Amino acid sequence: MRATGPGSADQAGRIAHAAERAGLRLVRFMWCGNDGTVRAKASAASGLEHRIVSGIGLTVAMQAMNSLDQLQPVEGMGPVGEIRLVPDPETFTLLPFVPATGAMVVDMFDLDGRPAGECPRSFLRRMQERLRARGGVLHAAFENEFTLATDSDDGPQPVDRSLCFSTIGLNASAHYTDELLAALEQMDIVVEQHYAELGHGQQELSTAPAPALRAADQQVYVREAIRGVATSMGYVASLAPKPWPEAAGNGCHIHFSLWDGSGGNRFYDPGASDGLSSEARAFVAGVLEHLPALAALTAPSYNSYRRLVPSYWAGAYTCWGYDNREAPLRIPSRSAGREEATTNVELKTADATCNPYIALGGLIAAGLDGLERGLEPPPPVEVDPATLEDAQREAWGVRRLPETQRDALDSLESDEVLMEAMGDRLRRSYLAVRRSEWEAYSSEDEAFEQRGHFFKY
Ligand code: GLU
Ligand code: MG
Repeated sequence: MRATGPGSADQAGRIAHAAERAGLRLVRFMWCGNDGTVRAKASAASGLEHRIVSGIGLTVAMQAMNSLDQLQPVEGMGPVGEIRLVPDPETFTLLPFVPATGAMVVDMFDLDGRPAGECPRSFLRRMQERLRARGGVLHAAFENEFTLATDSDDGPQPVDRSLCFSTIGLNASAHYTDELLAALEQMDIVVEQHYAELGHGQQELSTAPAPALRAADQQVYVREAIRGVATSMGYVASLAPKPWPEAAGNGCHIHFSLWDGSGGNRFYDPGASDGLSSEARAFVAGVLEHLPALAALTAPSYNSYRRLVPSYWAGAYTCWGYDNREAPLRIPSRSAGREEATTNVELKTADATCNPYIALGGLIAAGLDGLERGLEPPPPVEVDPATLEDAQREAWGVRRLPETQRDALDSLESDEVLMEAMGDRLRRSYLAVRRSEWEAYSSEDEAFEQRGHFFKY
């Protein structure tokens, strides 16, 4: 019926041919939920062309579902009614870790052809447009940490018990890593670095920055590849923020910078002593001001708050600093000779249980608020903020970030900027879904929480 999706009929034909040439039997139409899980409905190769144009139907209730598959009561999102999942042909990829299968990421549309209010990708598009009206494009890169394990009757066990950056850890997972990198190569995703991280079985994989929407699409695919390759080799890979209670957390730091239309990095000012432009400072100030609320979008799960504790290099206090790994906003030192290209800010208050579209949309809304109000950040913090006296922290405006998912959601609900940005249907469904996860996990034991996150993210 409709043709308001991102793809034209022409593109649909081209994708259908490409799928046929690659011998695909199924093409997944994928989306990410308010619960941060990735889900899909697949089209058979036959009929793909018309499904790309008209989409696949989905119950209007789906974005009211939490990560325990418990449907939440959200007005207008019950058992009656449908939305259309319309794939973006630009995101077409093979999924090399499963047989004869490809994928595209979808936008959600109402039956009358308008973007559905709960559509996370449309939210990010809207925020991109707001930023573009100021001449800027946010570039972002997600830096995933994850745990490689084998499952057993005693629960998942890490594939190594090695040390931080240890080559023993690299060797233990080398065959897996090679398969993963080969898959990402076939998916046109550029890997920058990989290493064994501090935790047992823990690894880190960083990918190249891209404009926000593309970066979020890639994050969905990188998560799929990390877990999909593991499954195909008999492992379990988990991006849960705290895979085991005492282990190092799995962060998914978001590196970001603001670019203009002619290839200039607006965060970079060669004349400033720290190389940071006044726009970078204002953007950082905006993110810092909204951080307790933004955390509910970027580190959004019950398990996320096991990770965001002092002295685990995840950033537990609102502050920023140069190369300070206990600051949730870190300004990484630049590469000599590539100063402009490498000027960026790292948000550590983020993990891979976030919906990457909602996380980046929220990040833009927070940064834009800083730009629009011309905010100036407080002085940078040069020490681990946990080591400061309370009075010192208070004097510097350094506050503890929310200590639970519930506190973060309370901050989000009272943050007018983020609530306005999300719009009625997205904010209602998001708050309902995430609050219900708090209810479910806080009334059960820690083992239930661990399993609930380890095997779903
Ligand atoms: N694993 C740490 C986290 O939870 C990050 C360690 C680092 O890469 O600095 O964010
Ligand atoms: Mg790391």
